[in-house]
Amino acid sequence: MKYGYHYCDTNINLLHDTLNALNGSSNLVNQTKLDIDLLVVTGDTVRHNSDPNIPLTVDEILQTSQFVMRKLKESLPKSIILPAVGNNDLFIHDILDKGPNANLKGLYESYELLTGFSDYKDTFLKGGYYTYQTKNMNLIVLNTNYFVLANSIHADCGRGTPGHHQLTYLKDQIASAKSRHQAVFIAGHHSASKYVWKIDCLEKFKETVNSTIVSGMLFGHAHTDRFLSSKKMATQFLNPSILPQHQPAFRIYDIDVKGHIKNYIQYCANLEESNQLGIVKYKTQYSAIDYFEIPDLSRKHMHQWNN
Ligand SMILES: [Zn+2]
Repeated sequence: MKYGYHYCDTNINLLHDTLNALNGSSNLVNQTKLDIDLLVVTGDTVRHNSDPNIPLTVDEILQTSQFVMRKLKESLPKSIILPAVGNNDLFIHDILDKGPNANLKGLYESYELLTGFSDYKDTFLKGGYYTYQTKNMNLIVLNTNYFVLANSIHADCGRGTPGHHQLTYLKDQIASAKSRHQAVFIAGHHSASKYVWKIDCLEKFKETVNSTIVSGMLFGHAHTDRFLSSKKMATQFLNPSILPQHQPAFRIYDIDVKGHIKNYIQYCANLEESNQLGIVKYKTQYSAIDYFEIPDLSRKHMHQWNN
């Protein structure tokens, strides 16, 4: 099958033709020409290690990461591309010790292929996190591997742990954005939930991001279309994946110059139909403000809708 099967990793045809849909060289069904200023890749560019006959190696992890970054750069030469570290991008699945280390260095060398990524060298080598800034907005890309239960090297986010260092960085970045009257977005791999995160890290994270200047949070990992809304935090938007666990999909967010989330449009392809036709056809699946019937995707409106 040209585009693969459900529950398999994304194959080269699906990656290639999805990037063509993103850059407009292959028309989406509704003929929309997408205009992408900034692409957030929420992690896991490397395949799952689920085939006992072809065990994943460190070389393959680094080669895949470099290959995907090159493809992204070639396909979207004008877009800012910001990758987050996923648990599948680690040399040992789910496990990452404090930086600097060989895993972060290897990932840095592949992300460095992206234009402008060398600006983030210092914090990325320390812990896989960094901040992209515009005049009005700060997008803080976190390395959530330090917060999750599956990474068993550190039990919590206590002093001296890489989770604690990252939370201190996050706190400083938010305080600094606040003093400049700028908005903050947070992106990362694992969404903040008691089922996935260490309780201590989750509680400290909630305290740290409990500021109205945090406009929204973008996460991946779960392959599902969800959002998590709470009074204490900005909404967590979980995007579906290109990996066709369900149907391959991506989102285009509309964020205004002040950093407020106005809307997102989700595009989805039907894997069976794409395999039959021999061409992947992404269609508009829904517009968030039309689906939720709210004026924008601010914390207030998302929370009102959820209750
Ligand atoms: Zn993951």
